[in-house]
Amino acid sequence: MKNKKQIFIGFFSGIAITITFLALLANNSVSKNEDLITSQILNSNVYYPGTEELASDEMRIVALGTGMPNARPKQAAASFLVELGNGDKFIFDAGTGSAERLSAQMIVYDKLDKVFIGHLHADHFGDLDAIWIGGVLANRQVPLRIWGPNGSQESLGTKYAVDRMKEMYSWDWASRQGNVNTQGFEIDVTEFDYRTVNNLIYDENGVQIYTIPAIHALDGPVSFILKWNGLKFAFSSDTYPNKWWMEYTQDCDIAIHECFAPPSLLVKNQKWPPLDALNVATQVHTAPAMFGKVMSDIKPRMAVAYHFFNDFDTAPQILSEIRQTYDGPVSLATDYMVWNVTKEEIKVRMSSINEDIWPLPSLTEKLPADPNDRVGFSKYIAGGRVVYNSVLKFYYDQTNKMFGTDYKVPE
Ligand SMILES: [Zn+2]
Ligand SMILES: [Zn+2]
Repeated sequence: MKNKKQIFIGFFSGIAITITFLALLANNSVSKNEDLITSQILNSNVYYPGTEELASDEMRIVALGTGMPNARPKQAAASFLVELGNGDKFIFDAGTGSAERLSAQMIVYDKLDKVFIGHLHADHFGDLDAIWIGGVLANRQVPLRIWGPNGSQESLGTKYAVDRMKEMYSWDWASRQGNVNTQGFEIDVTEFDYRTVNNLIYDENGVQIYTIPAIHALDGPVSFILKWNGLKFAFSSDTYPNKWWMEYTQDCDIAIHECFAPPSLLVKNQKWPPLDALNVATQVHTAPAMFGKVMSDIKPRMAVAYHFFNDFDTAPQILSEIRQTYDGPVSLATDYMVWNVTKEEIKVRMSSINEDIWPLPSLTEKLPADPNDRVGFSKYIAGGRVVYNSVLKFYYDQTNKMFGTDYKVPE
């Protein structure tokens, strides 16, 4: 029989062994958990912008705006980014709020110089100014290139709208001259005839973009078809179902088509008069069951429905209306949804974005401003300045010290 001392030692040895064992076990489970977490991240349905190189035969499409004309935090208005394995990037529509989503894609603005506008509703081009001027400030030194339809009269065309946008920003442009380099302020507009069917408007670097007429609100709207490397992408912008879409988007790999909020939701949630709701949702736009019918006719590898508020309480209704007329693959788009398209597979994921993003440093050296270009202040306004020279000296000294310069506080 053990004496008390032996029992005491035995008891503590037992505790020590147990602690060591538990510690080993814990260590082991930490590394196992880390492995598990890493593999879950690598295999998860999450896309982290800026972390994935496209394969040379791969197309990636990111939803930058999938909502409605009214702004909301969760969904910007219409915009889709198409990135190709050859390095090309294209923006289709630039609806209000979408520039913010574009900024989260971790793409240098040098490469964001091509915008295709399907029609001139604010929810399809309301953030053109943000892409244009934001691009200049992020050092896009090449002109912004914009493609858009003409109208039934000059004042209803894309060129007219862009010229007026430039006029609207006269003060903005003048204010920046001499303060930042404004080389990228130039805009190249390619306006094409909205009535031309299967109209080749872009043909560079193995990428062809065609337009077909769309039927929406007034004469002028178009839909786009992009072809590259045996892949075919179609984007309706806004349209009522039409014969050109049916003919030219057959068997495409991915078909993004408007699927407007149905009349019942417009009446219930926004108190629209029922006849207005019926007219807008089913005559001006394509309602969900109509969207389904369109997709049943063209049979894409992936149908993408957008242009509705996609929430927990609306998605089931919209999907059930689509399913009345279509039983193929479908994505109910929301902002930051991503499709990776190859001939073998279409992968659908959501992005995880960094809200604290800064514009990425440009690929080209940022040119300094020429102070001689400065428009400057009138004597009256300049005379109102209260100059804290000793405070400014802190910033000049700090800058000179950090960057090896020798600038003096202006007199
Ligand atoms: Zn529209
Ligand atoms: Zn729209």
